[in-house]
Amino acid sequence: MAKKGARQLIGLICAECKSQNYVSEKNKTNTVGKLAFSKYCKRCRKHTKHNETLKLK
Ligand SMILES: [Zn+2]
Repeated sequence: MAKKGARQLIGLICAECKSQNYVSEKNKTNTVGKLAFSKYCKRCRKHTKHNETLKLK
């Protein structure tokens, strides 16, 4: 049976304009520390670094 609570909902915010463009989830048991992805930002209209932010359900 899968354990509850291992995955955590996170938002991904653009490092440049601070808009939240993506919602993801991570396994906090396997992933320690902050995540950062290079993703396309609609507002900047280019790829920027997106940092994770805590997202409450
Ligand atoms: Zn942006």
